[in-house]
Amino acid sequence: MTRFYFHAHPADLEAETLDAAFARLRGEIGVDGVIVDAVAPRRLALRPRLTDAPRIAAHEAAAWFQPNAKHYANARLRPNTATAVKSRNALARIVEAAAEQGLAVRAAVNLFDNEALVSRHATIACVDLFGRSHESRLCPSHPDVREFAASVVEDVATNFEVEAVELGDIHFGHGLYASCAGGAPLEAGVPMTDDTRSLLGWCFCPACRQRADEFNIEADGVVAELTDILSADFALRGGGAKPVSFAERVASSEQLSAYAKMRTDSVTSLVRGIRRRCSKPLPARATSYPQMTGLAPNAVADFVDGFVLSPPTGLSTDGGTLALSNMLKPDASRDRVIESAGGRERVVLEFPCHPPVTSDGPALVAAVHEAARAGYAAVTFTDYGLAPEVCLDWTRQAIRFARRESA
Ligand SMILES: [Zn+2]
Repeated sequence: MTRFYFHAHPADLEAETLDAAFARLRGEIGVDGVIVDAVAPRRLALRPRLTDAPRIAAHEAAAWFQPNAKHYANARLRPNTATAVKSRNALARIVEAAAEQGLAVRAAVNLFDNEALVSRHATIACVDLFGRSHESRLCPSHPDVREFAASVVEDVATNFEVEAVELGDIHFGHGLYASCAGGAPLEAGVPMTDDTRSLLGWCFCPACRQRADEFNIEADGVVAELTDILSADFALRGGGAKPVSFAERVASSEQLSAYAKMRTDSVTSLVRGIRRRCSKPLPARATSYPQMTGLAPNAVADFVDGFVLSPPTGLSTDGGTLALSNMLKPDASRDRVIESAGGRERVVLEFPCHPPVTSDGPALVAAVHEAARAGYAAVTFTDYGLAPEVCLDWTRQAIRFARRESA
């Protein structure tokens, strides 16, 4: 039987008051549990519903719990705690209040975009092919980052009564210039396609270069090859011919293939290390672009407890192509994730419950019903704090209908 969850940011739950939010989520909307960010990236959001809290929610990347020092004995990095919860332990309060309503809690850990940590520890940041350090993206190859990630997951799994720890972004990210939270998008004289972003997204920090050495790869040779590809793009020679995708370019180059393999190995061994220290189920958010992120579903499947699938493009910056109806259509990359997981009963499907992806109630009701019928383990709605009042009603209807039809 498919379970239903609502994803929520701790600050939004606190804004409504935990008791009111959970009574509503359980009693009125009817979810089985909530997915709460234990560590969240930077966020700037306009709250659609009136509460006593500010309409604009502005938070730096931070942990929403008080770290327990004993899990960080070997770590040089410690989580920076959100200033809004310095004196309190938001996750602990949330877990307790949710339990009173009979709601399960899954803790989401999104560690790898953190401008505060990067500003304090410059060497942990990703470095692009031009040698420029990123402002917020932590490199998963860096030994300190790897120890930090495993320590945070161990801390959350050990010290909080959560049902699971969800790995949100344990990889190289969707291109170093894809995320523009709090920043301007990268402008260029050619379209910034997924392929161009992939090309600009590979990391060449000292830790990645050292790994490349161990794989007998000349990192400077990889940089030169990527620079050539970029120059060819700017020469605007294609004339109408079908452009070569980044995946095809990687596949046709021995050097690029080897570097891609090194990146996948970096992420896979990181996830394996985290698994060893996590006492709770550990699902991972799948990414639509393994070439870009280094997270290959088949490579990490043995170390995680299934996958979470978000909308097919994976990249919010693409715009336009997101539609609820696309989420259940046949799709090769999604099928690979389901196959790696071992079936839909080990996959969570994530539905944004508000525009632009979800445009009306009947569309959400139909999509959720279809997901339940297809046998997905769970459906998650994003994001409780950003859902206008009417969208909460759509989720209530969707859950009620799916439950009734599958009873
Ligand atoms: Zn790196």
